[in-house]
Order: sequence, then C-alpha cells, then structure tokens
Amino acid sequence: MAASVHLTFFGGLGEIGRNCAALETQGRIVLLDCGQLFPDDMPGVDAVLPDFGWLLERADHLEACIVTHAHEDHIGGLPYLLRSLAERGATLPIYGAPFTLGMVRGKLKAAGVSVPDLIPLDDHARLPIGPFDCEFLPVTHSTPSGLMTVFDTPQGRILHSSDFKLDPTPIDSRVTDLDRVREMAADGGIRLLLADSTNAGSSGSSTSESTIGPVLRQVFDENEGRRIIIGAFSSHVHRIQQVADAAEATGRTLVIMGPSMVRNTTLARELGLLRISDRMLATDAELEDLDPAQTCIVCTGSQGEPRAALNLMGQGRHRFVTVGDGDTVVFSSHPIPGNEAAVARLHNALARRGARLVHSGQLGVHTTGHGKADELLALHDAADPDLFIPVHGEYAHLVAHHDLALSRGMGEGRVLRCTDGDRVKLTGEGVTHTGRVPDGHVMVDESGRPVSDALLEERRAMSGEGFVFVRVLVEGRKGRLVEPPVVESRGWVEPDEREDWHGQVVAEVIEALAGPLAEGNRDLHELGRLTRRATGRLVSRRTGRKPTLVPVVEVR
Ligand SMILES: [Zn+2]
Ligand SMILES: [Zn+2]
Repeated sequence: MAASVHLTFFGGLGEIGRNCAALETQGRIVLLDCGQLFPDDMPGVDAVLPDFGWLLERADHLEACIVTHAHEDHIGGLPYLLRSLAERGATLPIYGAPFTLGMVRGKLKAAGVSVPDLIPLDDHARLPIGPFDCEFLPVTHSTPSGLMTVFDTPQGRILHSSDFKLDPTPIDSRVTDLDRVREMAADGGIRLLLADSTNAGSSGSSTSESTIGPVLRQVFDENEGRRIIIGAFSSHVHRIQQVADAAEATGRTLVIMGPSMVRNTTLARELGLLRISDRMLATDAELEDLDPAQTCIVCTGSQGEPRAALNLMGQGRHRFVTVGDGDTVVFSSHPIPGNEAAVARLHNALARRGARLVHSGQLGVHTTGHGKADELLALHDAADPDLFIPVHGEYAHLVAHHDLALSRGMGEGRVLRCTDGDRVKLTGEGVTHTGRVPDGHVMVDESGRPVSDALLEERRAMSGEGFVFVRVLVEGRKGRLVEPPVVESRGWVEPDEREDWHGQVVAEVIEALAGPLAEGNRDLHELGRLTRRATGRLVSRRTGRKPTLVPVVEVR
C-alpha cells in the first residue's frame, strides 16, 4: 500500500498573509512558502508569523523550502524561521526562481541571518526535492517568475497553483502554463489541487497587465508640463517597466525612489527582467537639477505606509520632493483591505498640497495579480482534479472557491474545506482531516523577539489611556512615609494640568495608606494594592479615564 501524504496548513487559509504549508510523506517534510502577515494596528509589532513550533520540533525531518514567488506573504517569514532553525543547529535549503531567491537573499542579509543554500529553479524544471519529484510551471502574477508546483507523491500528483492569473498578454510573454497542466491531467491525472482563492468571489476575468501601459501613456500625455509621481508596489516589476516605457516615450527622466524600490529594480535589471537604460535614470539626490516637467518619480507608499516616500511627501517631510500644484500623483495600485483609510488620508494630504490625483477608481491604472472566477474555473477544467482544497484567502474567499468547484460539478465529498492549523491526510480513500497544529498569530518585533498578547494588550492600553506611576517609600520601623509619594504620568491628562492632578493623587494615596501603616502593615503586596486602588479611584472618578497604573512600594 502506498504511503500516505500529510499536508499541514500553518497560515494563509483564513487571511491574506503568512502562507505556509508542509507536505510530508514517510516522515520527510517539504515546506511550501514561508510568509508573513502585515500587522494591522499592533503597536511595536513588525510581523505576524505562522506558529513554527510544530516545524521546529521536527527540524531533523525538514528537507527544504520551496518559495513560489517574491511576495512578503510567501517569503516574509523566512528570516524568523531560519534564525530559529539556526539556534537548533539546523538549516533549510531554499528552492525558487532566481528573482525570488534574490529577494530572499536580500531579506536574510538585511535581517542578519546567514543565507542557506539557495537552489535556482528554471521554468519547467523537474527535480527531486526531499521525497517528492517536483515540476515547476510558470504562472503570471503581479511579481515576476511565479511558479506553480507539481508534487509527484505516493498518492498521485498534488498541484499547487501559487498566486496566479490568466493573462493572455503579460508584459514578459510568460503565460500561466495551463497546457502542461492539461497534459498531466490527461497523462496520469491530478489527484489533489490546491489553488489561490483571493479573487474567487469576483466574477469574470481580470484585465491584462498590458492594458495598463496605454492608460499610463494617456496620463503622461494629459499631464505634459507637470511632474509625474507614481506610487506602485516595489515588487511589481512589470508595472515599473510600463512606467519606465511611458517615461521614455515622453522624454522624461526616471527617478526610482525608496530603498525597496531601488533594491528590487536593481535585482530585476541584473536578471534581465526589467529593461531601463542607464541614460534615462537619475537618483533622488539629482532631482534638484532636473526640470520637473521632464521628470517622472516612481516610488513606494501607495498603500499609505507611514514611512514610505509618498506619505512623507504628503506630510511635507520628504528630503528631496516638495509636492505642489505642478505635480500629478498616480496611485498605480489598489488599497489592500484594511489600508483604505490610510490611503484616503494620503489622497487628502496630497490634494491639500495642490497635487492632481489619478487613481484606479477613475482610470485603469491598476489590475489585480489574482485570477477571478472564470480564470479559476479554467484552472479547474485544465487540472480536472480528483480532490480540491481552496487555499490562499480570507475565509469568505475560501468558501467562494469551494462553491465555484461545486458549480463545475465536483461532488461535496471531493472538496475539503481547511483553515489555518489543519492537518490532513491523503490516502487511497481520499483526503481527510486528521488533527490540528497551533495556528495562533505569532507576533514579533523588529529584532525578531516575540510579542505576547499580554504585552500587546499593555501597549494598546497605554496608547489609548496613558499611564500613571506612583512610588511610595515607607520607613519600616516608624511606619510612616519617608517622603510624599512621587507621581509621574504620560498620556493621561493635558500636560499643563498634570501637576495639579498629580497633587491630588499624592493626597489620595497618603490618606489611603495612613491607617494601615499606623496599624503596622508593612506588606509590600498589600500596600501596593492599596496604592493602586486609591489612585484608580481618583483617576476614574475624577477623569473618567483608565490609564495603566504602575504602583511601586518600597519599605526600608
Ligand atoms: Zn503574490
Ligand atoms: Zn500571496
């Protein structure tokens, strides 16, 4: 009897982010992507990761990691996982397309993590990885060199779509290879399909990336005599190519701005994925010598990210660019769910400075990298899988993809709904749930140290309500205060009213402690509790606030 194959989903099934799954047979594990989720309203949290605990316990069985493409939700967790593995004396070879590996290398170096073996994959490469014979097929997406993976397993072929769309006219002519999928379906079949659900709830098909170029060109023509600033994703090499083409055609100098934009375009140019001639490029420091009407700036920050170039321009804090009424700012992206408010604020800030705005709500200056319903159905038709698990999406996206599969005639029993933390088993019988692994959101700060829920809760409480610190020094023998309590606070009351409020806290604490001290109470814990209670009473009764209270009592 053929060995069973286990799949474990650590993240990405129930959210857009932290995609990470393990495929395992006979105790040997191959990891498929290792992404992060961007933290949303989490003070001091730099990344949200999958829980790697289960993997770390099995470090000896971990053979390799395959990265499907260069987006953060697929590679952003690698520095953290590799650092944890290194602490256990383990490492992890990484397979991916050269561009993806270049991004991984940059990311690991920036994080100070030693770079493991990076094994480049060409389109249509076939090679064994761990216990599986793998084949890699090109897919079109919003970053170059995306790869679909076919795993030949003891239980038949498992096809993982990666993030993909069906674009008949991609900028690099590299189309999603459904022909090869069809060939495999006819020859041996596809046992299990795992496919991108991001746009399963959107009907029809996505528009081609190559429709963006002419629209950009029109924007350039209509804004002759004005400086053009374009916000885009730094990993969207084909978008940057089209911006560069429009700039070149209209005789503008191109300034690539922002560290990630510079890093990624340099890598893409080195690999021949981006064609921009040196003569039309200038650096941000050279901007002051350029005629604004003959300049195009391409930069990051189209999602309203606080530290990115566009936001600094909006706030008038950018070192090299002062936005004014001679500028046209193009948002060549769509707000990611959760970023809408930040993007709207940025629109307003730039408009206030006099800039003319162009965004995807008015003109076709953006298209998605994820296939919509008709494209997903085309993949299902090509693969014609026995079994299907929707992956990569918020829960509603997974449900929409599930329904889509049923609509093309797959029976209920052939579609398995999974979510983060699920472990499933593929056997001769089919695919079934077998258990769970921890699926909690692991939050880490910039240095990679974990941030607990309790710590985050403290930060949130302090950021919303401030804190009050009270220090009480008791002379043990005589049972009286050595000096009046010392009070400090931040974020609780207006700074110019602070002193008065602190005086009231002092009075309240002295009164609350007088009796117990006279009665001989020297218990630090108890005196601390009384101090906290007295302070809290005054604070909430008189100001109606709930700042974090920090009482410190010492007896000497
Ligand atoms: Zn992606
Ligand atoms: Zn993704």
